[in-house]
This record gives sequence, C-alpha cells and structure tokens, in this order.
Amino acid sequence: MREDFDNSYARLPDRFYSRLVPTAVASPQVLRVNEPLARELGLDPSALTAEVLSGNALLPGTDPLAQVYAGHQFGGWVPRLGDGRAILLGEITGDFGRRDIQLKGSGITPYSRNGDGRAWVGPVMREYIVSEAMHALGIPTTRALGAALTGEGVQRERRYPGAVLTRVAASHIRVGTFQYFAARGDSAGLRLLLDHCIARHYPQADGPLSFLSEVAAAQARLIARWMSVGFIHGVMNTDNMAVSGETIDYGPCAFMDAYHPRTVFSSIDQQGRYAFQEQPNMAVWNLAQLATSLLPLMDGDPEHAAEEATRVLENFATQFSPEWMQLFRAKIGLTTQEDGDEALITGLLARMASSQADFTATFSALTNGKARDHITDNGAWASWAPNWRARISREPGDPKATMRAANPVLIPRNHRVEEAIQAGIGGDYAPFHRLVDALARPFDPLADDLDLAAPPRPDERVLRTFCGT
Ligand code: AMP
Ligand code: MG
Repeated sequence: MREDFDNSYARLPDRFYSRLVPTAVASPQVLRVNEPLARELGLDPSALTAEVLSGNALLPGTDPLAQVYAGHQFGGWVPRLGDGRAILLGEITGDFGRRDIQLKGSGITPYSRNGDGRAWVGPVMREYIVSEAMHALGIPTTRALGAALTGEGVQRERRYPGAVLTRVAASHIRVGTFQYFAARGDSAGLRLLLDHCIARHYPQADGPLSFLSEVAAAQARLIARWMSVGFIHGVMNTDNMAVSGETIDYGPCAFMDAYHPRTVFSSIDQQGRYAFQEQPNMAVWNLAQLATSLLPLMDGDPEHAAEEATRVLENFATQFSPEWMQLFRAKIGLTTQEDGDEALITGLLARMASSQADFTATFSALTNGKARDHITDNGAWASWAPNWRARISREPGDPKATMRAANPVLIPRNHRVEEAIQAGIGGDYAPFHRLVDALARPFDPLADDLDLAAPPRPDERVLRTFCGT
C-alpha cells in the first residue's frame, strides 16, 4: 500500500474543520470496490477491505476531519452546515493530481444537527450508480471508490440496512464554504480558502475576480453537459456546488425519461426551483452568492469590484450557450456551425416535449433513422425532418458517427435505479452490480444490457425521488 497522502486541507487553521475519526460500525461487509479507480489512484484494491471502507480502520497517512460550511438551501440562508455524516480522510496525490478521499455515512460529527450521521444503502447505491455513470458519460463528477454495508440498521420511514460510501473528489470545497467565512466577517479565513482553492483548482487565477471567472466557466461547462444528457441534480443548493466544477452530492437526482423542460423529481423541490430547465439560472444564482462572498477580498473601490463581479456573472450565458450549442449540435450530427442550427435544435426539443418523447431514446434513435417513432405529435416529425436532412447533407464528416459519440444509449434510468435499491433492501445486490457494470459503457452497451436502455413502461415510471438521507 502506498501512503501518498498529503493533507493540505488539514493544514488550514482549525476553524476550517473539526478533527475526528469515523464512528465504528458493528459488522462491515464490502458491497463493492471500484478496482479500476483504485488502481488509477495507485491504491491496491485488496487494501480496500470492509474495515477500511466502513471507517473501522484507517489507511496510513490519513488525517480525518469534518469540514465546516454554510449555504443557501432552496434560497434560505443556513449559517452553519458542514459534513454532518461525512469525514474527509485525506488527500491522495499522484500523477493524477490531488484527490480527496471521503467517507459518507461515517457517523455523527459536530455538524450533524439532528441527524444520525449515517446513510442507508439506498442513497449509497444511487450515488454509486449515478456518479460512476456520469463519469462514463464524460461529465466531471465525484466518484465512488467503494461502498460497505455496516451491518447496522438505519432508521428512516422504516429501518433500512446502513452503508458507507467512499467518495473521491477533486475537493469537497463548496460555494457554501466561502459563504461560511464571508458571513462571519473572517477575511483572513476567506483569503486562506481562496489561496487554497486557486493553488488546487485554478493555478492560472491571480485573484478573487479571476477565480470567480474560472469557477463560473467550469460551472457553465458542467451544467451544459448535464443538460445534454437530461440530468437533473435536484438539490443545487450552494452547499452542494463544488468550486472544482465537479458534480457533487447526489441526492434526489435523476435522468429524465420523457422530455419536458419543467421536469422535477425531487420530493422536496415543490416549487420546481431546480427543475431541468432552471439549472443554468440556478448556477448563476449560486455563483452570485460566491461573488458576494469574495467581494471583501477584491481590491479597490467596493462599487467598482461589485460591477466587475457582476460582469463575470453576466458572462455565464456567453460561456454556457456555445457549450450547450456544441453539445446539442453533435447530438443531431453536426460538427460545423450554421445560423439556423439553434432553431433546428430547439425545434426538435419542442416537438419532443409535445410528443412526450423519451430524451435519451429519441436522440439515440436519430442515429438509426427511428426517431420518427418518438416524435409522434401530429405533424411534428414531418415539419422538422426535411430541414434536418438538408442540414445534415451539408456536413463534411460522418453525422452518424458524430451522433453515436454524442448520444448515450444507456443512462441510469430512474426505474432501474429504484429497482436496484429495492432489491438491495431485500439483500439482493445483483441488480446493483449489473447496473454499475452496464453503465460503464453508455455509448456501446453489450447486447445483453439493452433491456436497461428501454424507457419505463407507464406502470414502471418513477415520478418522485427522495433525498432519503
Ligand atoms: P444534503 O441536502 O444531503 O446536501 O445535506 C444537507 C446537510 O445535512 C449537510 O450538511 C449534511 O451533512 C447534513 N446531513 C444530511 N443527512 C444527514 C444525516 N443523516 N446525519 C447528519 N447530517 C446529515
Ligand atoms: Mg450536501
């Protein structure tokens, strides 16, 4: 076992965290080890035992702590949050850079409030499945290094099997981490945090404004990618937005089946604040909170600093739109740019919405000439397809190859995730393992896995997802 831990966050002053070790669990059992990821990180997969994955034993070189942060949850300010059921073990370093290794579900911390510090196996499976699927789709994300069952029950609506997820991230620093120090008027802490994040994520940035601009650009790229695969995060609170630009904190997240821009899954998002189409706006809202937090660090006249920060936020759209356009162009087979492309794409999306067409299946059917089976609204296909064909005919490359590379066949369908969770509650983890294995090949699934690509039948549809933390 290598011991390449270098715990830079633990070297920050102690008001950034609380040092503590995971709470031991009764009888840990390995649920799954992500062997390819372990090897990428220079870890021997056989070292990831049930004891290590549950927090009962610590890898040498770790320096466990719970991070403090604050955040806006559904728009409401919460001055003190923090890792209520997670513990950062440390940062592993190597040719891949620097990665946090964190346990989630590892026991009570000073930030647990009324929570029990634990996770049940449902959310652990969901995060494992979806984060690894996102990675296979090429979308920046935290990853799952492994999961263990604790052998203990966790009380929610009922008693469920407990579990611990081992998560890997570029860092776990959130917009809410900046908000925490800003709200306390702790400019020295804020400065340390900024310097830490610049060194770690954006070494090209030379101050708070260019840092803000880098974070905004990373979020624009990220959210455009979410939109291109129909992903809905569900809880884009500022404490769930990583400044690294990785997708983080998979709660009631879901991939859309039938396309509709206002789709919401999360049971706690009653206003549709984080509906599919709202995600870019909500990213800007969160970035505005980051900008506000950074203002005390900006040089010169405060009014001028505020104007400059506002300009960065206004820039979001000019970064997001070309990203989004490029991704959706590829989805309909285009690599070149023409003026009518946006109308072509939005025209297709409008027809998908009125046809209640499945997002993933429709785009993958474009490749094999079967999309008209999905765009069923009266006259919808006939009024779109000729323009598309004409446009495709002007493409220099191979539009089919472009579409195949841009349109996944396999996504973590909500009903399949639910099915895996339900089986897991009953002690059968085979559907979970099958789903994780299959989702490693979203663009060219094995023939045996094609049943997982099918949209849900009406009686299989899952309309609500729960944080279920
Ligand atoms: P989330 O909405 O999952 O991002 O969680 C919001 C906050 O609640 C975070 O600070 C979590 O650490 C905390 N939290 C969620 N579930 C629990 C739990 N079971 N025990 C303690 N804290 C929790
Ligand atoms: Mg969270």
